[in-house]
Amino acid sequence: MTMKPYWQNYIDGSWTDGGSGRIDVTDPATGTVLAQHALAGTADVDRAVTAAARVHASGALSDMRPVERARMVQAMGRYLLAHIDEIAPVLTAEQGKPLWEARLEVEGAARYFEYYGNQAETVEGRSIPLGSGYLDFTVYEPFGVSAQIIPWNYPLEMTARSLSAALATGNACVIKTPELTPLSNAWFAHAAEAAGLPGGAVNILCGLGVEAGAALSAHPDVNQIVFTGSVPTGVAIARAAAKNVVPCVLELGGKSAAIVHEDADLNAFEEDLRWGIWFNAGQVCSAMSRVVVQKDVHDDLVGRAEAIAKSLSVGPGAERAEYGANMGAMVSDAQRDRAEAIVAQAVRDGARLVTGGRKLNRPGAFLEPTVLADVTPDMTIAKEEVFGPVLSILSFDKEDEAIEIANSTDYGLVGGVFTRDMDRATRAASRLRAGQVFVNEWYAGGVETPFGGYGKSGYGREKGREALWNYVQTKNIAIRMGPQS
Ligand code: NAD
Repeated sequence: MTMKPYWQNYIDGSWTDGGSGRIDVTDPATGTVLAQHALAGTADVDRAVTAAARVHASGALSDMRPVERARMVQAMGRYLLAHIDEIAPVLTAEQGKPLWEARLEVEGAARYFEYYGNQAETVEGRSIPLGSGYLDFTVYEPFGVSAQIIPWNYPLEMTARSLSAALATGNACVIKTPELTPLSNAWFAHAAEAAGLPGGAVNILCGLGVEAGAALSAHPDVNQIVFTGSVPTGVAIARAAAKNVVPCVLELGGKSAAIVHEDADLNAFEEDLRWGIWFNAGQVCSAMSRVVVQKDVHDDLVGRAEAIAKSLSVGPGAERAEYGANMGAMVSDAQRDRAEAIVAQAVRDGARLVTGGRKLNRPGAFLEPTVLADVTPDMTIAKEEVFGPVLSILSFDKEDEAIEIANSTDYGLVGGVFTRDMDRATRAASRLRAGQVFVNEWYAGGVETPFGGYGKSGYGREKGREALWNYVQTKNIAIRMGPQS
């Protein structure tokens, strides 16, 4: 792959430099600089928001018949698929994930455009009876300018998730891409152009969170905000949104638990473990970062987790093109060092390091796949998100205890229960404090299923039909009919 040395922002239909200069984008698998990206300043953010507001005011998107918007949104997804061979290596190079995972991410991003393109025609109001002499009905109107602030772990899927639904419902968008992984987002601009969207409908810019991100979330002409990232940033964005009285959706972190009962199919669970905690090197908000296992099968499960962790080949994502037992670099040395330090602290707190916990003796942000056992709910590792390839195993005796442990963090993104006893599974599903519960398959679901958190994992839902309502506001129209002449 030949890497373009300098990448620009895309504002009002043109590629432009950034008012705050440039930022280096590093390949976490080697630690070397891959390319530079334009860094947007507050004036760039203002130009992007102004362009989006102009598109909205013109009616170019919102006045369109929904089927026309649907076709454009779907075309953007097809564009991504048609360019998967260009996009996936760039994503791997900037983010560290194996090439096969990067390809899955491009396909996942395209799938959002397919799904929300399909939904565009389904956003219909209803009529409300008010007795004779009245006709009353609701219509759903786009908010106008949708601002979307994106994290580095799934830069394509996270942008696709909000951008596709926002466009399908007729909003113009300003995307603030992550500083660590901004490159692959360029293809959304190419896709928007190829699909025939008007200039200014989709603006993609990279900038520092504290500068461009803060300016975007506080901009008075932004009408709706979608944020995916950490809790402290979510709080800052919610505060900025409140000042302008605009709604926001917050998709924040998680510390999600899988409860494994003694009757669970442990052979099948091995695959859930591998995907659950080592996919994308554990940098997944809904990762299975805790396993809460029944005492009778505890030792068996710890042994299986250890064997899976040791079986993973860890190294540069570009050399890992095939689906399989492998893992790439973490996104940066800083994230890797943070995860390593949290593991060391857990061991000092009394957890048992079963395997892993150290960085690899080679350049690049590699951390060994890690398993910690004898974790107790009071330990920091049991409560705080590591956002790395680190599994914590806790044990329980009775069902009530398992639920209590699973619910014992401030987060509530997802949860899971593994058992052949459907009564037990159903009880857990209703008692787990999480926005999504998996029974006997971690990550079961898809673009169609609503996703979002309880507690500090955030509010609002992305994915599924639920997400459409983030991007529209209800207008009620009541007509008093005159007497018959
Ligand atoms: P982060 O909060 O540091 O950054 C996320 C984005 O916010 C980046 O684009 C950043 O530039 C921007 N930002 C930073 N400070 C800002 C500010 N003051 N104002 C406006 N924008 C600002 O998070 P991260 O390190 O990029 O991502 C990791 C976190 O994201 C983890 O906690 C993870 O669980 C969470 N996450 C959640 C989901 C989800 O769907 N729930 C998905 C992916 C990641």
